[in-house]
Amino acid sequence: MAATPDSWAAILERIDDAAKLTGIDPDIHNMLRHPRRVLEVSVPVRMDDGSVEVFTGWRVHHDTTRGPAKGGIRFYPTLEVNEVMALAAAMTFKTAVVGLPFGGAKGGVRCDPRQLSLAELERLTRRYTLEISPLLGPDRDVPAPDVNTDGRVMAWLYDTMSMIQGANMPASVTGKPLSVGGTRGHAGATSTGVLICARAAFAALDIPFIGGRAVVQGFGKVGGPLAFLLSSAGMRVVAVSDIDGAVYNPGGLDPGELSDHVSTAGTVAGFEGGDAITEHDMWELDCELCVPAALSSAITKDVAERLNARVVVEAANGPTVTAADPVLERRGIVVVPDILANAGGVTVSYFEWAQSLQGFAWEEEEVAHRLRRYMEDAFTSVWARSEALDVSLRRGAFALALERVTEAIEARGLFP
Ligand code: NAD
Repeated sequence: MAATPDSWAAILERIDDAAKLTGIDPDIHNMLRHPRRVLEVSVPVRMDDGSVEVFTGWRVHHDTTRGPAKGGIRFYPTLEVNEVMALAAAMTFKTAVVGLPFGGAKGGVRCDPRQLSLAELERLTRRYTLEISPLLGPDRDVPAPDVNTDGRVMAWLYDTMSMIQGANMPASVTGKPLSVGGTRGHAGATSTGVLICARAAFAALDIPFIGGRAVVQGFGKVGGPLAFLLSSAGMRVVAVSDIDGAVYNPGGLDPGELSDHVSTAGTVAGFEGGDAITEHDMWELDCELCVPAALSSAITKDVAERLNARVVVEAANGPTVTAADPVLERRGIVVVPDILANAGGVTVSYFEWAQSLQGFAWEEEEVAHRLRRYMEDAFTSVWARSEALDVSLRRGAFALALERVTEAIEARGLFP
């Protein structure tokens, strides 16, 4: 999750490539090379010792033609505006790929939440929310959790928005706890989407899913539930890593036991149901499925040369550096790109927004059923567009998304 200095340049490269592939109007291409608005705010916070610390935060809207801006808020010590811009643009294309009526946004505060007390974190969240509140609202911009933010932070955001407006504003944020209008089925939605994409890719490539071997990098909010889902679906999760180490068991790791170990040890390292392995060696393991579910830029050119997976499903945002794409393509490794593979979370966020607007909560089955439909439809559309253009799934996904955004821009016209 480290900030990559060239993340904005990398997304521009993807936009330029998709524009060339689809031959869209050069003026629209140029518009999409610029974020619609970038708000930088100072966030002064009274610390527990009485001093005042001033943090820097941002909220970026990349494009809002297809609907209100949608995207997470992250708290991260090395956050840079270029990375927020890149993540906002990725949201424009992610929501378009899945067909959600949203534009793309992202926000965050440069801070290390581990160094803050709970009270400081709450004051920081509320002041940041106030500072970016001119941009927010159910029909303007709907934030959600991201790295180092969770339901508790979203509940503070929701409460602050409601206090500012003097009205109940549940549709102004998603990822809320169930007790304050969150949706059933939010936890695990991203992992479920990854599973749906993995299954669809295996079916399209005629690779048997049951008995297949999977390697997962990261055992957090996405990687943890995913290991369970993959093993329940019949795969053998042969290796899992986190920031402190990696474990390997060719017969398959037991995700329940691994999870118990992590809840006491705080890491997968030292798990007795497998052997220690370095992450360097983990990438080389023979497997059918590899899921990077940790940080950005994990699959470098070197990792791409050594990877022995048939399919990579990108659960993390931006886990593959641009230079690694041609290597994976040459080696015949099929990559299901992040803007499709990890869209399960934002899809269920859309369901939460709809429920909050309606004031009517859906059953869990309804959420699961609709999530499956959105993800399968998106996968099928990306697969078809990639085949028609004779390009990788990543290039096909960006092309499809760009066409959808372009169609909306053309339909609405340029104001004034
Ligand atoms: P998390 O913080 O809960 O978990 C991250 C995991 O990655 C942890 O297990 C951590 O130990 C591990 N990790 C960190 N650095 C590592 C390293 N150098 N090597 C190996 N492992 C390392 O985060 P998360 O919510 O699970 O998100 C993971 C990725 O998925 C991020 O890129 C995030 O942007 C993306 N994502 C998350 C969601 C979501 O719903 N949480 C939705 C879309 C995309």
